[in-house]
Amino acid sequence: MNILILGGGGREHALAWAVLQNPKCDRLIVAPGNAGIAQIAECSDIDGDNPVAVTEFAAENSIDFVIVGPEAPLASGVVDMLTDAGILTFGPSQAAARLEASKGFTKEICDACGAPTAGWARFAEAEAAKAHLQQHGAPIVVKADGLAAGKGVVVAMDEDTAASAIDEMFAGAFGEAGAEVILEEFMTGEEASFFVLSDGETVLPIGTAQDHKRVGEGDTGPNTGGMGAYSPAPIMDAAVTEAALEQIVKPTIAEMARRGTPYRGVLYAGLMIEDGQPRLVEYNVRFGDPECQVLMMRLGAQALDLMLACAEGRLAEMQVTWADDHAMTVVMAAKGYPGSYAKGSVIGGLDALSEDSSNMVFHAGTKAVDGRITATGGRVLNVTARGATLQDARDRAYAAVDRIDWPEGFFRSDIGWRALS
Ligand code: ATP
Repeated sequence: MNILILGGGGREHALAWAVLQNPKCDRLIVAPGNAGIAQIAECSDIDGDNPVAVTEFAAENSIDFVIVGPEAPLASGVVDMLTDAGILTFGPSQAAARLEASKGFTKEICDACGAPTAGWARFAEAEAAKAHLQQHGAPIVVKADGLAAGKGVVVAMDEDTAASAIDEMFAGAFGEAGAEVILEEFMTGEEASFFVLSDGETVLPIGTAQDHKRVGEGDTGPNTGGMGAYSPAPIMDAAVTEAALEQIVKPTIAEMARRGTPYRGVLYAGLMIEDGQPRLVEYNVRFGDPECQVLMMRLGAQALDLMLACAEGRLAEMQVTWADDHAMTVVMAAKGYPGSYAKGSVIGGLDALSEDSSNMVFHAGTKAVDGRITATGGRVLNVTARGATLQDARDRAYAAVDRIDWPEGFFRSDIGWRALS
């Protein structure tokens, strides 16, 4: 079959890599892709966020299956238009994608189905929000309701910080996304990510992961898109996983179906776990980046069969074949990230690395210039490895990092510290 993947980061390189291992894939196009993806698949520069452009391109190229990587095409209705055109697509409808696009919507769903989450209130103007703040005090969490590229959340340890965040959001710091503001109870515990597939009815867990959001060693410094991840997450033992599935995810999927907007695709539940009890922090309606890289490394070729079954409503027939293994990915980023950074530096040493089903360098912000790989983004490479133990996966990943010659880049040397300590 002919397959189109939308996106051009490390997540999409990992998806492309897994899809190509499956003999069902005859031709693979990725839009826009990157320099690493271009080494294994065709790339196209169509506008992946534009439903009309994507649907026309898919029809012209006899695409049988579209896999949507990032959230923007989901929120803009790409899946709906492809589905209307009769093209099989992996990803939720625009209506179901509200589980990520509106934090208030997710909270309403949690309340309606009884899923454990932080207490919350929603405001359309600053005065009422501040009255709530005075009543509840700090710590408290202030969130813009809409999509803000991971920047619309302020965990405020004191009331002044919370009040400033409320003012900034209502002053338009996040545009329309901040037209409504959510104030949330501050939760304590350990965070983990839980990934399931749903075809609207059946729910199939496909793995757990933990990531490192902060730029600095020991989880310090500003937030990033993620500096590394590993799978599985040790805190997601059988009991916690069962609780997350039965108390949070399955009730959510049932509530979405009951409302006539069934959820089809991958659902990524961000959880806070304390004393063995998971509570929902947020949903994402797509794979995480870099979590996808470790999930794909562990799933391999079956990822395509699972995504097809998900899109075709056949998940009840499917089982995940698990190897008892671990995977880790280490992000290499341009010096300065997540602040300003230089573009265009050359990355050496990649050709000499052996890449196979247990060792891969997934590219994020890269571009080939005169046959050389150059850095074009903040997060640039995801050095990923699989092993019998997490320590083994870690050792292999860092051995590969050490062989990459990129003086303008940096990485965290402590990915997985909590799980390994
Ligand atoms: P991203 O897309 O980067 O994951 P987001 O903007 O969608 O983030 P959330 O995941 O809701 O926002 O929040 C970001 C982070 O803030 C969480 O990973 C968590 O560490 C912290 N956080 C959010 N809500 C709470 C809460 N109620 N209590 C404590 N911490 C929270």
